[in-house]
Amino acid sequence: MLNNVGRQTRPEGAGGDTEMPETFTGNRALNLETPLIFEQGVPGRIGVDLPEPKKVKAKLGGLARKGRIGLPDLSEPQVLRHYVRLSRQNYSIDAGFYPLGSCTMKHNPRINEKAARMPGLGDIHPLQPESTVQGALALVYELAEWLKTITGMPAVAMSPAAGAHGELCGVMAMRAAHEARGEVRTRILVPESAHGTNPATAALCGYKVDSVPARADGRMDLEAFEAKLGPDVAGVMLTNPNTCGLFENDIRKIADLVHAAGGYFYCDGANFNAILGRTRPGDLGVDAMHINLHKTFSTPHGGGGPGSGPVVLSDALAPFAPVPYVVKDDNGYRLQEDVEGDAAQSFGRMKTFHGQMGMFIRALAYMLSHGADGLKQIAEDAVLNANYIRVGLKDVLHTPFDGVCMHEALFDDSTLKDTGVSTLDIAKAMIDEGYHPMTMYFPLVVHGAMLVEPTESETKETLDLFIGTMRHLVDKARTGNDPDFFKNAPRYSPRRRLDETGAARKPILRWAPEGTE
Ligand SMILES: *Cc1c(COP(=O)(O)O)cnc(C)c1O
Repeated sequence: MLNNVGRQTRPEGAGGDTEMPETFTGNRALNLETPLIFEQGVPGRIGVDLPEPKKVKAKLGGLARKGRIGLPDLSEPQVLRHYVRLSRQNYSIDAGFYPLGSCTMKHNPRINEKAARMPGLGDIHPLQPESTVQGALALVYELAEWLKTITGMPAVAMSPAAGAHGELCGVMAMRAAHEARGEVRTRILVPESAHGTNPATAALCGYKVDSVPARADGRMDLEAFEAKLGPDVAGVMLTNPNTCGLFENDIRKIADLVHAAGGYFYCDGANFNAILGRTRPGDLGVDAMHINLHKTFSTPHGGGGPGSGPVVLSDALAPFAPVPYVVKDDNGYRLQEDVEGDAAQSFGRMKTFHGQMGMFIRALAYMLSHGADGLKQIAEDAVLNANYIRVGLKDVLHTPFDGVCMHEALFDDSTLKDTGVSTLDIAKAMIDEGYHPMTMYFPLVVHGAMLVEPTESETKETLDLFIGTMRHLVDKARTGNDPDFFKNAPRYSPRRRLDETGAARKPILRWAPEGTE
């Protein structure tokens, strides 16, 4: 019986929406509802027709599974429809505007994809002999040169697999440098507006995380920072531009102070697209900075990966960089794989192989197709677009910090006060309007935060429509004569308001046939 109908899309008691009649199937036009793939399975139904295997001698020593493995039995069209239907429910950057802040969800040019799929790059294996992958090694080398030039830094570790992994790399290099000097330092300073990965990285490396408060203008409190410095401080982890979308104006001073105290300066460079081609971290006194290739240099991300987080390093930290890395000599390109010779001080390896090759190809394609002038324009357009949104909304949504922002515009919920409508409600209503919501409730230093990052790749028309939508929603919240409107949103999505707390506290991660739990 289950197979005849889809499932209820509207939770009990979600409010009467007379404009949305139920359908017999549960489908809403192109928005299809079907049972779970496990519920669709019929024992014995099969999508392939293979010959009986010839008598083969089992080599598993009696360990072969005897029972069923619990996968549903389905025809090929059933499987195909299941996954195509799911993919159509997925909001993506290829479908619409994706204003998530601190994520840089920008267009991924198709030339990147074409380059990444070229057989000479797409079909190689990390265990191939070096002589057969000279072109791939040259590509990694050239990308590394671009990154060093753009950042004004002398060295780069290419293997980290994402931003957070890059932070781990940088902090491990800092720890190795302190250990080489025979110093034991136990504390890392992190501003309270930091991305959660910063304190997590410091803690993972065994450091005590010491939080530095923010000033009223959204930057790190320099006096509080100075007061916290001491001989036990290994370094500071600072994001610039920070997660409030603001440039840390005191950055040179911060670098000098931490260096004078014998510590290192880790700069979280995830927001590098705001300063690309305009400012070089090497000129700011930075010792280590990860660059999220999957943010600044396009390359698709989301759903957990893949990412790529190369880390540029100062002269002080370069000797401790992880292996492997590409070296160019008279015989061509080779990989420095072992902790010996020039790499004798390396802290070791972060990954089995050499990094995310597919991401390297896409990032270099992005750089080469923009050229030096185009890369500079990326930062200019990203900042211009964010400020266009800031100015377009600031009379209806309060901005907690005055003045020009960098690549993202930050609003708080003070103009929603007493309306009964929260940041979350606005986000849910945005879904009905066809937008992925902006980042909500982050950074934590701002009440009811709404963080919007348009990126450089959107048109003025897209930004105007977004501004118009947000003005409409805030206006609707403030005129206040339709309180159910927000509480019942989203109406048109495949799923509506979910029990997010229940899902987090009591997750049901395994499907079991009814009555067998
Ligand atoms: C995205 C981001 C990170 C983490 O990068 P991942 O690739 O997701 O691990 C760290 N810091 C900031 C400021 C970020 O925006």
